[in-house]
Amino acid sequence: MSIQFKSILELRAMLDTKAISAEELTKETLQLASKLEALNCFVTMNKEASIKKAIEIDQNAAKNSVLSGIPLGQKDLFCTEGLRTTCSSKILSNFIPPYSATAVSNLEAAGSITIGKTNMDEFAMGSSNETSFFGNVHNPWKKGYVPGGSSGGSAASVAAGIIPAATGTDTGGSIRQPAAHCGITGIKPTYGRVSRWGMIAFASSLDQAGPLARTAEDCAILLNIMSGHDPKDTTSLDVESHDLTQSLNKSLKGLKFGIVKEFNLGDLDTEVQKRFEDSKVLYESLGVEFVEVSLPNISASVPTYYSIAPAECSSNLSRFDGIKFGHRTEQPKDLADLYIKSRSEGFGDEVKRRILIGTYALSAGYYDAYYKKAQQVRRLIKNDFENAFNSVDLIMTPTSPNTAFGFGSKGSQNPVELYLEDLFTISANLAGLPAISIPHGTVSSLPVGLQLIGNFLREDQILNAGHIFQQHSEFHLMKPNMEDFG
Ligand code: GLN
Repeated sequence: MSIQFKSILELRAMLDTKAISAEELTKETLQLASKLEALNCFVTMNKEASIKKAIEIDQNAAKNSVLSGIPLGQKDLFCTEGLRTTCSSKILSNFIPPYSATAVSNLEAAGSITIGKTNMDEFAMGSSNETSFFGNVHNPWKKGYVPGGSSGGSAASVAAGIIPAATGTDTGGSIRQPAAHCGITGIKPTYGRVSRWGMIAFASSLDQAGPLARTAEDCAILLNIMSGHDPKDTTSLDVESHDLTQSLNKSLKGLKFGIVKEFNLGDLDTEVQKRFEDSKVLYESLGVEFVEVSLPNISASVPTYYSIAPAECSSNLSRFDGIKFGHRTEQPKDLADLYIKSRSEGFGDEVKRRILIGTYALSAGYYDAYYKKAQQVRRLIKNDFENAFNSVDLIMTPTSPNTAFGFGSKGSQNPVELYLEDLFTISANLAGLPAISIPHGTVSSLPVGLQLIGNFLREDQILNAGHIFQQHSEFHLMKPNMEDFG
C-alpha cells in the first residue's frame, strides 16, 4: 500500500496493524522525498538518524503513542540538535545547533521522526519561498508556481504527499498562506501557545509556530503535542491545556461567524468569491449563522506589520555578525570590515531591505513616529477584534486574495505587491489570535484556502469548525497531479 498522501491517522493505522513497520515507512518516505527532489522542498535530509530512530521504535512498538514512527518535516528555522539549521540563508548555511527547539523536542519525544528540514523564505521573510538561498520551491500543483511562503517547503512536502505533516512558523501568514496555495490545512496558534525557544527569531512579538497537515484533525493532534508552557520562553503562556481532539466533532449549530465588512470581498476574483460563498452555504447548512462585523482599523494592518516586523527583525538579526554564527568573510581588513562583509555576503536582498527599514524605524528621532505609532495602531486593531468577538464566535475570510502565482511574477519590481499577499492573514498576528486555513476548492486548477480566525486561545473552536467542514466536503482529499516532478 502506498504511503503517499496519507494522513497521520492513516499512517498510524498502517503502523498499528503492522501493514508497515516504522523502518519501512521511514525508508519509503526518504525514497519519495528523493524521487520528488525536483520540488526542492528540503534543505537538509536526516537520513541515518531517522532510520536509526525508526528501528528503535519498531523494537519498542508496545509503547507506541499516536506519533510514534510518524515522519515529519521541520521548517529550517527550528534548531535541531546536530542537524544543520540554515533558515534558508547563506549566513547560517553551515550552522549545526547544539540543542533543539522546544516545539521540535516535544514532537520528537512523542516518537515522531524528523526526516528533514524544509525549505523556506530566508529568515521567514516572504510570501512565495523565492527568497531562499537554496532556491525556489515548486508548488506541487503547478511547476514554476510558488507554494506560498515563508513555510513553502513544509506546505509543498505535505501537499506532494511525501510526509503527512510538517512544522511551520507564522509571523504574518507564513503557515496559512502556503497551506492555502498548496491545498492543505495549517493553523497559527494563539501567540504564546507554542514555545518560541529554539525557533530562530524573525519578529519576536509576532512569530508563532504551528503545524501544516492534510486535515484539521491531524493539526489538532500535532498542536496538542507542540504546545505547552515553557519556562525558557518568557512569552510562553501558562494556561491549562485541553485535548484539542476532544472537541472536533461538536455540532456547529447556533455558532455565529463574522464576515468582515471592511474586506471588500466584491473586489476579489469572481471565482475566489464564489468558493467563499459556497463555503458559507455549507456552513449555513450545518447551522451556522453569518453576521457582519466591523474591524474599522483593519486597513492599517499591512503598513503596521511592515513597520513592526522589520524593526524587530533588524534587532534580532544583529546577532549574525560573522563571529558567533555561520558565514564569515575571508581575510577581512579589520573587525568592522569583518562585520560588514560577512553580513553583506551572508544575507539576501529581502533580508537586507528589512534590516535597513527596521533600523531606520528604530533610530533615535524616528522611533516614536514609526515603531511606537505602529504599536499603538496594533492595539487599536486588537481592540477591534475584541469588540467583534463580543458578537461572533469566529471570523471567516479568504486566506489569500488569489491563488499561487508564477515564479518572478510578483514583487520583483515592487516588493509591496508581495506584501499585499498577506492582507487577510496579518491581522491575526498583530492581535495574537489563532487562525486556521483549510482548503475549499480550486480556481483554474489551483487550490484556494478559507481562513477561520478564533478568539484568544479558542483553537478548539477553529479546529472544530475546520474538522466539521472536512467531514462534509472532500477538498482536503484533493491531490495534485505531479507528473512534471518525476
Ligand atoms: N509574508 C510576510 C512577510 O514577508 C509574513 C512572513 C511570515 O509569516 N513569516 O513578512
